[in-house]
Amino acid sequence: MVKNIAVIRGDGIGPEIVNEALKVLNKVAELYGRTFNYTDVDMGGCAIDKYGDPLPESELKKCVESDSVLLGAVGGNKWNDVPGNMRPEKGLLRLRAGMGVYSNNRPAKIWKQLSDASPLKKEIVDKGVDFIIVRELIGGIYFGEHKTEGDTATDVLRYSEAEIERIGRIGFETAKKRNKKLCSVEKSNVLDSSRLWKKVMHRLAAEYPDVELSDMLVDNCAMQIVKNPAQFDVIVTENMFGDILSDEASMITGSIGMIPSSSLGSTTCGLYEPIHGSAPDIAGKDVANPIGTILSAAMMLRYSFDMNKEADAIENAVSKYLDEGYRTADIMSDGMTLVGCKGCGDLIVKYLTKE
Ligand code: NAD
Repeated sequence: MVKNIAVIRGDGIGPEIVNEALKVLNKVAELYGRTFNYTDVDMGGCAIDKYGDPLPESELKKCVESDSVLLGAVGGNKWNDVPGNMRPEKGLLRLRAGMGVYSNNRPAKIWKQLSDASPLKKEIVDKGVDFIIVRELIGGIYFGEHKTEGDTATDVLRYSEAEIERIGRIGFETAKKRNKKLCSVEKSNVLDSSRLWKKVMHRLAAEYPDVELSDMLVDNCAMQIVKNPAQFDVIVTENMFGDILSDEASMITGSIGMIPSSSLGSTTCGLYEPIHGSAPDIAGKDVANPIGTILSAAMMLRYSFDMNKEADAIENAVSKYLDEGYRTADIMSDGMTLVGCKGCGDLIVKYLTKE
């Protein structure tokens, strides 16, 4: 089965970390008899330099026509003074809109080998933290009417059943591919939009009898993420709640360079990228941690290509690399072996085996 992947290296550490992820994908292709074709796409600062535009239509078209997109990161000080609508990050917003991705999915996993990096107490971490937050991305209060009249400001929070249903389905489908537990997070004791949210989630639940649905109020969820994160498998929530909870969840893992993400819409063509930025302070020094990007590639295999064994193999190789005591500088600790970005990619390729 041939899969066409649009590859956006971007700026700063982007090209370095993406190269390592491609090495890993190539090894997967070799072991599992898959074919991945790569199409280079210019986006961000490098596209501004080349075309005067962070994402020209021709580049966006390559992404929309692909089977999925792998992105490093964009942006950097060099482009700080370009006008707002031409900034590198505008390319990213246009890409998300152009691809029609309305859900952002971020895993919060504490690798047992890195449990010391988590700000949570050891006994909480030891219960095992591994969940995903599925956040609605293009609706809710961020996209409602905003106005200020005199001394009063108003922001409108609006959701339709259709908008809730499509993100709800991503939540259920994600849970189906994991441990089959979905927690729907809202504020139904106060908000009408949350009561509608809850109603739609329960209607959908009838279509997913193998997934166990629970409800949680957002304020409680914020507490539970630090008190007992092991209880969660998949959390599905609206835009603003998801924005806040996913940042909270990434903090408890303690290592920004390790966290992947996916953004999905109504097709299987998704956008996969690490959650960190282009880290201009360490660009070109071969010290960046490529694992967030490598795990984003694994998410692509699992959620867009239905290649679960291959995704497991990548995650197991990362785990083995950590077991063997290798660390990039960002997660280095006493007694471990320091490696660079390339070294990290090479070792993960070495530990990648057919399960
Ligand atoms: P950043 O995530 O790039 O860096 C924050 C800190 O984390 C830095 O000290 C950096 O060295 C470190 N870091 C990040 N990724 C790392 C990795 N893989 N390995 C080791 N260390 C890593 O955030 P920032 O400094 O606020 O932003 C830098 C640029 O990135 C800005 O131009 C910003 O707009 C852009 N940005 C892009 C994206 C994206 O492309 N999706 C996301 C966030 C920020």
